[in-house]
Order: sequence, then structure tokens, then C-alpha cells
Amino acid sequence: MTSRHRAWAGIHLNAFRKNLQLIQKLVGEAEVWPVLKANAYGHGARQMAKICQELCAARLGVGDSGEALELREAGIETPLLVLGTAIDSEIPDLLEHDIEVGLHSESRALTLAEMARKSGKPLGVHLKVDTGMTRLGVLPEAALRVARAVVAEPFLELRGLMTHHASPNGFRSTTTREQETQFKNTVAELQDAQVPIPCIHSANSAAIFTGSPPFGNAVRPGIALYGVLPLSLDTDLRLEPVLSLHAQVVFLKDVPASASVGYGGLWKSPRPTRLAVLPIGYNDGLPYRLGAQGRGWALVQGVRCPIVGAVSMDYCTIDVGHVPGVDIGDTATLLGKDGEESLTIQELADAAGTIPYEITCSLGSRVQRIYSDSETQAPKLSLSE
Ligand SMILES: *Cc1c(COP(=O)(O)O)cnc(C)c1O
Repeated sequence: MTSRHRAWAGIHLNAFRKNLQLIQKLVGEAEVWPVLKANAYGHGARQMAKICQELCAARLGVGDSGEALELREAGIETPLLVLGTAIDSEIPDLLEHDIEVGLHSESRALTLAEMARKSGKPLGVHLKVDTGMTRLGVLPEAALRVARAVVAEPFLELRGLMTHHASPNGFRSTTTREQETQFKNTVAELQDAQVPIPCIHSANSAAIFTGSPPFGNAVRPGIALYGVLPLSLDTDLRLEPVLSLHAQVVFLKDVPASASVGYGGLWKSPRPTRLAVLPIGYNDGLPYRLGAQGRGWALVQGVRCPIVGAVSMDYCTIDVGHVPGVDIGDTATLLGKDGEESLTIQELADAAGTIPYEITCSLGSRVQRIYSDSETQAPKLSLSE
């Protein structure tokens, strides 16, 4: 079947739904706050937010005020939290649309309070404690002081206390356990001092899948919702890949041995073969290094075909010499299943020397997102109860 698109991403909404439900089962009573920053990790924030709203997510995490506004404009009414921080020019929008923001210092609290007072509207903040990520956040020893400063400000509302984990290995790493201990101590200190904290939240995907039950009353999964775990787990739990990536063959070329392919001639055909040109390149999110390192793959007719030569901006080239009958218009799959074969985001990320997050976030705007409700072909295993 020939697609009318050059390059397209299949986004499987049911897979996203199932991943969200699986995480909800896993964390029991805790609220699941889906993280939809970076355009829902490249998948399309509006579409994912609609599902989250249908499934009654209590809050959504976004990256900045622009992402929050986009969701409000799309009719999303779920409470929104800008997870990191917002710069001054973003604050009026946050106030106007009732969007919460992370808070990382006392001086920031004073600025926010001042802006909120001028607008006549309160701003909801989540105080971020830096327990070891060493990025945004107040140090544990300053948390009580800053929390008190927030509580004392009539135009700031302390809605939550949060921390963020640095290790991709969740509770299998001592870093995560140490961060959690620090965070628990900080929570206890604030509670002893009678500081009211409506929400306590720390777990990201890695922490959710390695520690149970989660500490606090909410969790913030990102990558797992999209069907990827930031670690390989030996567990029954199977997330379903949400994303597949395809391009159609636009040209076939028979080449002799020693043909030099692509920029820099990084690949030379070892024998006479047939090459297929795909209209997808690094601008579309296919990493340059895949071809340069000779480690990338595409599936055509269910057969693995190596990406050969450097991936260029708009195109890449694959070797289809071992696949009989490839035609112009045939679908090449760069992520997902084709017949018995499949290519995972993790595999692609490994081949390119990066992490799955960067792969999905880098999907370019030219790549057509095709949303479907159909089942994915991914293996289905239910949550063992
Ligand atoms: C991105 C982010 C998350 C989600 O992380 P994953 O590893 O994708 O689950 C959670 N919390 C904060 C503060 C984040 O910035």
C-alpha cells in the first residue's frame, strides 16, 4: 500500500491509554500526572492530553508556558504544572490561565509573589527540592525557610513539594535511594513545622517501575507512557510502544561494487547491490550518526536493511540488495513492526549513541503524525495482579 506521505509517524493512542492505565494500577492510590513536555516527547501534546483528560488525570506536566497555553487553547481543563521554572515574561500567561509552576529559590518566590499581587490573582507553586540532581531546586536545608516564605505570601499558594531523580535506573541505584531519603526527611521537617503541603511527588518513570509503593501522593511518568522504559527490566510488565516511524521508497538505484554513497562517501558498496532512497533525514529526527557509523536499520517487506552512508538532511539510503521485488512507494519502517521483525526506540538510540528520549523528541515537524486507535502489534501482557 502506498502512503501519500513522504515520512510519517504512527501514534497508537490505545497503546498510550494502556500504558497510562498500567502505571495507574502499578501506583495504586497515587495520582498519575502524565508528563507531556516537549510536545509529549514528540508525540503531539494535544492528542495525548485529550486522552489524559478522558482518563481523568489530575494534573499534567509541561515544559514551559507556551506548552501550557497550547493545551488550554485545545480545550484542556486539567490542572497544568510547568515542571521546571518559568522566566519573568512567562508569568502573566501562567497567572491568566491558572497554570502552576515549579519554584526553586526564595528570591524567585518574592518575584513571583510580586507579579501575582500586581495581577490580583494567586499563583500556585510546587517547591522543588534539589536532593541530588543539582539543577533547579532549593537545597534540603533551605526548604523549610523557602516554604515558610511562600506560605507567608498571600498571592502564592504552596500546592506541592517535589524532587526529581537523576538516575535512569530508579531505585536500583543508590543515588535514587539517597535522594528519596533526603526528600522524605525534608517532607517530615516541613510537616513537623506544620507547613501544609497538598501534594508530595517525586517518582519519574524509572522510579515508578523500580520502587513500590511510590512515596507521596502523585507520580510523574514521562517516557514510560510512550512505551519506553529508561532501563531494561526483567519484569512481566510490558509497555506498548506508542510510536512507529516510516518513510516510503522514492527511488531505487542499482550500483556496482565500490560505489561511494552519500556525503563524505562514508560507505562504499562491497558488492554490486540495489539501494533504496528514503525521504527522511536528520531534519526529521533520524540521527546523522546512524549512517555514519553503519549501525542503522530499516525494515522493508519485513526484512532488515542497513542504512548506508551518512544520513543527510532530507534523505537516507538503505541497502535492499537482499530483498527481492522492492518497489517505489513501498513502506520502509524505521521504528516499529514489519512482519516478524521490529525496531525499537531503544535499539535506534543505542545505534546512534543517544537515549530514547532524544529520538522521540527530535521527530521533525515534517513527519506527519498519523493518530490511530487500532491495536499495536506489540506483544500484550497483562499486569500480573
Ligand atoms: C521530564 C520529567 C519527568 C518525567 O521523566 P521520565 O523519565 O520521562 O519519566 C518527571 N518529572 C520532571 C520534573 C521532569 O522534568
